[in-house]
Amino acid sequence: MSMHKLVLLPGDGIGPEVMAEVRKIIGWLEQNTDASFGAWEDALGGASIDKYGVPLADEVLEACRNADAIIMGSVGGPKWDGVDYNIRPEAGLLKLRKELDLFANLRPAIVFDALVDASTLKPEIVKGLDILIVRELTGGVYFGEPRGIEDLGNGERRGFNTQTYTTSEIRRVGAVAFELARKRQNRVCSAEKANVMESGKLWREEITKLHGEKYDDVELSHMYADNCAMQLLRNPQQFDVIVTDNLFGDILSDEAAMLTGSLGMLPSASLGKPGTPGLYEPVHGSAPDIAGQGKANPLATILSFAMALRYSLNRGDLADRIETAAQDVLSQGLRTADIMADGCKEISTSEMGDALVSALTQAMAEAA
Ligand code: NAD
Repeated sequence: MSMHKLVLLPGDGIGPEVMAEVRKIIGWLEQNTDASFGAWEDALGGASIDKYGVPLADEVLEACRNADAIIMGSVGGPKWDGVDYNIRPEAGLLKLRKELDLFANLRPAIVFDALVDASTLKPEIVKGLDILIVRELTGGVYFGEPRGIEDLGNGERRGFNTQTYTTSEIRRVGAVAFELARKRQNRVCSAEKANVMESGKLWREEITKLHGEKYDDVELSHMYADNCAMQLLRNPQQFDVIVTDNLFGDILSDEAAMLTGSLGMLPSASLGKPGTPGLYEPVHGSAPDIAGQGKANPLATILSFAMALRYSLNRGDLADRIETAAQDVLSQGLRTADIMADGCKEISTSEMGDALVSALTQAMAEAA
């Protein structure tokens, strides 16, 4: 079996703490399964500014290009608040996404049974929830030209941005959504505002065309993005995969994430063309308020690594084992502070990693 090439970028704040727990899982997989990993680690964000003077060094970018998958912690923190805007920690992450042309952002919203009470919605609405939002990440109104703020000369100013999508931009992210749906419940809901935006009309037409050409085995529905925002709160279980543009995806993915109730549990993936490396990272930031205290929940980053196994390394079997182990640990009532509940036991970041390793070992023994 070939070796999976990983680049680990722990980053700043709690990044190194949560990445240490990912390394434990990699070590366990190497010892107990047929998988083998080459894991190369370097700095990104503030840690990279300290080491290389820039938030993403050329040699690190080159290593990322040659990897099968990149696992990232988080970047940023007060230490680098004063640095020049162009070399701020976040600029390193944005450059990495751009250079690797990561156009599809995957944000799962999964409610673990043991955490059903952490959601602000009623348990019967969110129990068993498993949605995947596929957001277009490199086009749309955040990048469209012309853009700017102009002086109208009459005491008024005008701010403007351009929402723009091309056929190929829509088709490539649509294809990702349809392919993923085939491995799930085979349903895609495409969200836009075709009623009031030309770019939305084109989006709907192109998704419909692509579906007819290549994916008519997948159930496709269309929904206006504002209705989708309402339906996510009213009846989220109706969705399997939601595909949408950059702006609506930004909002809908955060809304869906909050159905699950905890930032420390949310993984994400950003994918480019098939055969190119994906970037896997927790949704949360560097949490400077708890950094260095052993309080960070490592599960979002560990679950991001599980996504890498599934989507970049073609090892969905190992991803399943990690996700089941996470369920088991939570069912045992073990919790980091952010997801603590009555009757549960509070544990540290490294104890959570150890508990996951124990659950993996236990499950393996039971299966033998
Ligand atoms: P944050 O996600 O870092 O923290 C928000 C709150 O959630 C904090 O109270 C934090 O303690 C808590 N939290 C976050 N992750 C947690 C975890 N794994 N376990 C337990 N608690 C957790 O957001 P913020 O405070 O707005 O930003 C802090 C820094 O992170 C900023 O510099 C910001 O720019 C950066 N940031 C980076 C990314 C990224 O790397 N992709 C994303 C968001 C924010």
